[in-house]
Amino acid sequence: MHDILPDATHRWQAFESVIRQLMASYGYKEIRMPLVESTDLFCRSIGEVTDIVEKEMYTFEDRNGDKLTLRPEGTASCVRAGIQHGLLYNQVQRLWYNGPMFRHERPQKGRYRQFHQFGVEVYGISTPDIDAELILLGARLWKQLGLAGIRLELNTLGSSQARENYKKVLVEYLQQHDELLDEDSKRRLRTNPLRILDSKNPAMKQLLDDAPVLMDYLDETSLQQFKKLTASLDAAGVEYRLNPRLVRGLDYYCNTVFEWVTDELGAQGTICAGGRYDGLVEQLGGKATAAIGFALGVERILSLLESQHDSQTDRIDVYLVLLGDACESKGLLLAESIRESLPALKMITHCGAGSMKSQMKKADKSGADIALILAQDELEQEQVTVKYLREERPQQSVGFSELNTFITEMYSRNQPPE
Ligand code: ATP
Ligand code: MG
Repeated sequence: MHDILPDATHRWQAFESVIRQLMASYGYKEIRMPLVESTDLFCRSIGEVTDIVEKEMYTFEDRNGDKLTLRPEGTASCVRAGIQHGLLYNQVQRLWYNGPMFRHERPQKGRYRQFHQFGVEVYGISTPDIDAELILLGARLWKQLGLAGIRLELNTLGSSQARENYKKVLVEYLQQHDELLDEDSKRRLRTNPLRILDSKNPAMKQLLDDAPVLMDYLDETSLQQFKKLTASLDAAGVEYRLNPRLVRGLDYYCNTVFEWVTDELGAQGTICAGGRYDGLVEQLGGKATAAIGFALGVERILSLLESQHDSQTDRIDVYLVLLGDACESKGLLLAESIRESLPALKMITHCGAGSMKSQMKKADKSGADIALILAQDELEQEQVTVKYLREERPQQSVGFSELNTFITEMYSRNQPPE
């Protein structure tokens, strides 16, 4: 579990402001769920025989003896909240959330025990136009973040009947090659055979590559829906790769499933994953409701952003250097008056005294564009000295009464063009 240190938070904030604006532009509303849920919720939704439920959940008993779990993902909580507050039945909801998730995994680059997911969930729409909207929304997000090289992988799992039919064929095939299966897969052959396709064990790659594919066992309705989706993506110019082995690590998916992947993050290349889960609401006690969503790993996105863009620092605009008691008092008032007229300006008022030299050092280190210096001489003449810290420009004096106008003009000059 990581601290996100002050040098890094601006990147998180920038990401958060992009998603907030993006979601508003598609008419989605934010939902905030608790970090802790009853353990039972995750067992019933994610599935007993999944990596998450079998070995990754942080589960504990509270003082009442209730079994609780730190949420490992957001969809189950979102459905629980939707049912509890009557948001789902006979309605359309376009929702999003963003926040920490917890999984007890082996920590490595791109895999943490507390990590963050931005997720989107839509309820009450069963047609594939919404599947397409979610994918277009993802593509737009990469564009707005300025990220390149993110590819879309697509598959359909079909109806539950189609999956049952396919399961039989798959089990038969895998049983014939029993000696090539690892321990996990042998167990799953009985409990959850589809999950075997999701195995990351390289020793089983060939076996799985040659396995029968679900696409050949699909029902007509699922096939038609999937064709509509791919036609929409073609029309919108979104590229994708059909990946018949894409089954996702959670049990509740049906029909459309997709992942956005990159080659630039090593083994942890999936940055965003989702799909349809039409059966889940009913399974958790609500009325049958169509549902689709995705979740994105924020750490992976930020690490990709960092590798594709020069890391920008969280710079400030102005550092106010103050020498002596009288200047410190006056400086405080000047700074307040500047903030009053220009709330967006980022300004540090020096506190804790110190020599001119040490204060100027701090001004430079802060990344400020200019230092405003107020010492005894300046105070007597009712002005400040402006020193340019990033440009070759002679210093200049600005009277107290002109200071707000001067700073406002400097600030608007320094704003990057839209
Ligand atoms: P993986 O195959 O990498 O374990 P997953 O199938 O368990 O992923 P999901 O449950 O679908 O992942 O979560 C959606 C996204 O959340 C993932 O694509 C990934 O970007 C991110 N994610 C999942 N687990 C972690 C983790 N432990 N640390 C950081 N990010 C994670
Ligand atoms: Mg996982």
